[in-house]
Parts: sequence; C-alpha cells; structure tokens
Amino acid sequence: MKIVILGAPGAGKGTQAELIAKKYDIAHLSTGEILRNNIKAQTKLGKKAQTYVNKGKLVPDDIIIDLMKEKMRSKECKKGFILDGFPRTIAQATALNEIADIDFVLNIDVNPSILIKRLSGRRSCANCGAIYHLLSNPPKKKKGICDKCAGKLYQRDDDKIETVKERLITYNEQTKPLIDFYSSKKKLITIDANRAIKANFKEIVEKIDSHIESQ
Ligand code: AMP
Repeated sequence: MKIVILGAPGAGKGTQAELIAKKYDIAHLSTGEILRNNIKAQTKLGKKAQTYVNKGKLVPDDIIIDLMKEKMRSKECKKGFILDGFPRTIAQATALNEIADIDFVLNIDVNPSILIKRLSGRRSCANCGAIYHLLSNPPKKKKGICDKCAGKLYQRDDDKIETVKERLITYNEQTKPLIDFYSSKKKLITIDANRAIKANFKEIVEKIDSHIESQ
C-alpha cells in the first residue's frame, strides 16, 4: 500500500501517519523528520536545508525529490509506505507521479483555528522524533520524557509562534493546491480531523478499509 498524507502544519499528520504505518505494516517516511535528523547531524543535506526549515520555508524541490526517490527505493519501503510531508508542491507531486503509483491520498482536514493551539502545545522527542502534546497527548510515564525511548521532549524551533505563522502561509500558498490536484485524479480521501487522536484514527481506518474493499 502506498499512501500520501496531506494536511496543514498542526493537523496531526505525523501522529496519524505513525499509527497508520504500525497498523498496516508499512514504512513511515516523514520528510520533516529526515530533514531534522540531517540538521542535527550537520550532514551536507542538513546544512543546505536548515535555513529554510528554521524560517518555515520549503526546501527546494530538487533536493527533496532526490531525497525521496532514494528513500522510496530502500528496503524498508518494500511492503509499502506512507509519505508524511511529501509532496508539498505541485512540482513534487508531478515528480512523485513518475516515481510511484500512489493508491490514495488522505487529506487531514482541521479547522484553521485549532492549528495554532495544536502546534504551540506540541513537544517532540529529541531522540526518536515521537510526537506529544502538552494537553491532548502528554507522555504517560514521566513529564517531559518520551514513553518509547526515554529521550527528552523539546519544542521544535519551527513550532514557535513566528515560524508557525510563516509555515501556515507556506502551506496555504504552496501545498493546499494539492487538494484539488489529487481530487481531480480521484485519489483524495478527506478526513474530518477536528476530534481527538483516537477518534480521528478510527475514521481513517474505516475509510482506508472501505477503500481497500472497494478495489
Ligand atoms: P514537517 O515536520 O513536515 O512540518 O516539516 C518541517 C519543515 O521541513 C517544513 O516546514 C519545511 O521547511 C521542511 N520540509 C518538510 N517536507 C518538505 C517538502 N516536501 N518540501 C520542502 N520542504 C519540506
């Protein structure tokens, strides 16, 4: 199964993509997570990407397309994958069309007024990248510590309010047009994701399963 998950920053793409990957036994490819790991390790890619990421701007298409081509060919993607954060522009979607046959695109639809609240309370694990929220999804074992790997939770630089506003503008201008792009290809499945994580995931699973049955 090859899936794309689309949504504004703060819609909950990363959280839902992680749950979907686990349930359907496919790889979770998060471009944001790959870029953050490269920035942390100061690789060649990380050095190129960091100014864009820190400003809430998109990393140039050619860099991202080459990166994702390589990832999708890797062994971990043999059983399929969910792309979280890619494509983010029409040029990336056009390139993806030539690389892989995507089964469907999940559009995680959230009321814009909720997005800033979700982003400002988000905390990420510095070690494994797991995502938490101070109010709606805090760690269960110890405050400020990741349940999965005991790594320290932190607030991403680009989750701070000034960058969040820039990311929302970038999303509206460059990524939102993908909704029409995939809708016209009859690939789009929209999820009303204004509820809690579990309820949103339940709707996603129902829609994925009914899509699989209809094939
Ligand atoms: P995310 O974790 O998906 O919110 O991504 C964090 C940041 O990484 C974005 O704000 C962009 O700066 C960069 N990024 C992630 N995915 C892409 C992409 N497909 N194209 C360009 N930049 C990206």
